[in-house]
Parts: sequence; structure tokens; C-alpha cells
Amino acid sequence: MKTLLKSSVAACLLFTLIWSCQKVPLTGRNQFVGLVSNDQMIQMSFAEYKGFMDTSKVVPANNNDAAMIARVGGRIKTAVENYLIQNNYSEVINGYQWEFKLVQSKEVNAWCMPGGKVCFYTGILPICKDEAGVAVVMGHEIAHAIASHGRERMSQAMAAQGITAIGAAGAGIYTGNQQVMDLVGQVLGVGATVGYVLPNSRKQESEADKLGLIFMAMAGYDPSNAVAFWQRMAEAGKNSQKPPKLLSTHPADEDRIADLKKQLPQAQKYYTSYASKR
Ligand SMILES: [Zn+2]
Repeated sequence: MKTLLKSSVAACLLFTLIWSCQKVPLTGRNQFVGLVSNDQMIQMSFAEYKGFMDTSKVVPANNNDAAMIARVGGRIKTAVENYLIQNNYSEVINGYQWEFKLVQSKEVNAWCMPGGKVCFYTGILPICKDEAGVAVVMGHEIAHAIASHGRERMSQAMAAQGITAIGAAGAGIYTGNQQVMDLVGQVLGVGATVGYVLPNSRKQESEADKLGLIFMAMAGYDPSNAVAFWQRMAEAGKNSQKPPKLLSTHPADEDRIADLKKQLPQAQKYYTSYASKR
């Protein structure tokens, strides 16, 4: 990992002239995203999303749960976009085409792909329990996208495999090499074609927790719900033979819950200040 980090820093310097490194909104962390552009990442993500949706059972929009996912997603999207625009970070959402879908699946999972494609699986709803629980997951997953974590992991994985550019990315569908396509599947978390998902780093998880709390707070959901949600998720992990899919990429251990508690006071400030404007 250390070597990877060092090479990321070196690559960062090297690629600054081509695609500069960027800063994550709110946390200000410098990240190396230089081997794949935002446009390329979004293009590949939309193709992957379409492939997934074409083979999944999408719950109709007039279903109560599907409507709730769309409502929570819409509220968080609006709050996040307003924040980014007001703070000169709007380039982060260039090319976004938001969608909030619920698919019928026993798997306990949810994700937001680069470009704003959000999917919840019905299997996660009992652990979310209510709308505030959905907002915890929604805020967290949208935070991964806003913080360009997919692009960052893609760039790191490419650097580790010695791939310096993704190659042919024409209009519409990516037609480059299979190695890159496999990485896309692994990074985006659908994993349908490769059966394996590259987990987020601990740093990315912690950052998504922090931003996620703030995003849900900005949208008018009390961020303290996050602690109870991750406790329920940890319980679900202990009580089932097949651990929830989300846990394989999101360990819900004591460290995570302790971290969340530490980050709550800052998020509560957003909750209070945004509440006064509603
Ligand atoms: Zn995460």
C-alpha cells in the first residue's frame, strides 16, 4: 500500500500537467485521479449501469418504497448540488445524470456510480428501517461519487497494473481493452461480470462517512440516525450465515461507529443551519 501511495504521489506530480490532481470537496484531501478523466469515468459507468439495469428487476416508480428512494435521493441531490455550486465545486458533477432506482434483490446492497446513478436493493430496506435510514445510506453512497472515489480507485488500480491510459473511449460505449473493462466492473461495485469488487480504502470509507453525514444533514435528515443504522448493519452481519454484501466493502466495526460519533457534531451544525432555512 505504501508503495502504491508513493507511486500515486509520483504519478500525481507527473500528470499534473495533463489532468491535475484534485481536492475532495469539504475535506480538502488531495487525490490522484489522473489516469482517467471525469468524462471517461462517467461514460464507462453509464454503460455498466445500463447493463445492470437491463438484467435486473426494477421496482416500479409508483411503489411506496421506490418512491421513498427517489424522494430521499432527490432531496440529497438538491442539497449537495446547491452546496457544490455555492462553493465553486460544480465541476465535480459535470455530466451527471441522476437516477434513483430500487431493484428487487435479496442482497443487502446499495451504490452510487460516478455520474449519479444510484441503486438500492430491496434487501437493504429492513436494515435502513425508515426514511432516515435510507438517507444514511444515500448520503454515504452519493459521497463516494462526489468525492470521485471510483475515479481515484480506477487510477490507482491502473497505475498498479502499469496501464497509463484507458485507450479508445469513443462516443457512447467504451471499446478499449478487456483489462480496463474488468477494472471498471471491479471499481464500480456491480461486479456482475467479474464477481469481485475492489473495496474502498479505509480512508475513502471514512471520508464517505464524514461527507455522507453532512449531505444528509443538509437535506434535512438528522445525521445521528447513522450510528443506529451502522449498529443494525453490524448486527445483521453477526446474525446471518451469509453476511450482507455491503459489509464486504463497508466493515461496520467498532472503529467505524466510534469515528461516526466523532464526526457527528460537525454534521449537526449543518443540520441546524439548514433547518433554519427550510
Ligand atoms: Zn462506502
